[in-house]
Amino acid sequence: MLSPEVLTHLNKFRQNGFLKKEAGGQLFGKLDGKTFLVNIATGPRESDKRSRNRYLPDRKEEQAEIKEHFKNGHLYLGDWHTHPEKKPVPSELDIETTNDCFQKSTHEMPGFAFIIVGKTTLVRDWYIGVTAKAGTRRLNLV
Ligand SMILES: [Zn+2]
Repeated sequence: MLSPEVLTHLNKFRQNGFLKKEAGGQLFGKLDGKTFLVNIATGPRESDKRSRNRYLPDRKEEQAEIKEHFKNGHLYLGDWHTHPEKKPVPSELDIETTNDCFQKSTHEMPGFAFIIVGKTTLVRDWYIGVTAKAGTRRLNLV
C-alpha cells in the first residue's frame, strides 16, 4: 500500500515528456504481515546518474538513507524508478539488479517492493512487484 504522499512523490517524476529523465529512489515504511505500508519515498538525488532510459542511484547515499530512516523506525522496503513507457516492464538489468540486491544485502525481509512508475497516473498500469528468494514477480492490484 502506498500512502497519498508517496503517490504524489512518484507522480512528480513520471516520464510524461520527451525531456524527462529516469528517476528513482527508495521506499520506507512498515511491514504488516505480508503487506508493505509505504509512507516515505526518497530520491532522485543530485548525485544519481540519470538519462532518458537509465537510472543509476548513488549507492552511498542509499545506505545513508537506510540508516537514517531506520533510526526513526522506518524500514527500508524497496526501490522505485521510472520508465518512459505507458505500461512499464522491468528490463533484464532491472531484474538482475533487484534480485542481486535482495540476495546479497543483509536483512530479515520476506521480500522487497519493486515499483516502476509508468507515464500515466494509472497506477494499475505501473509495475508493482515484489522481489523475494524466488525472484521478482508482479503483484496483481485490484
Ligand atoms: Zn528500469
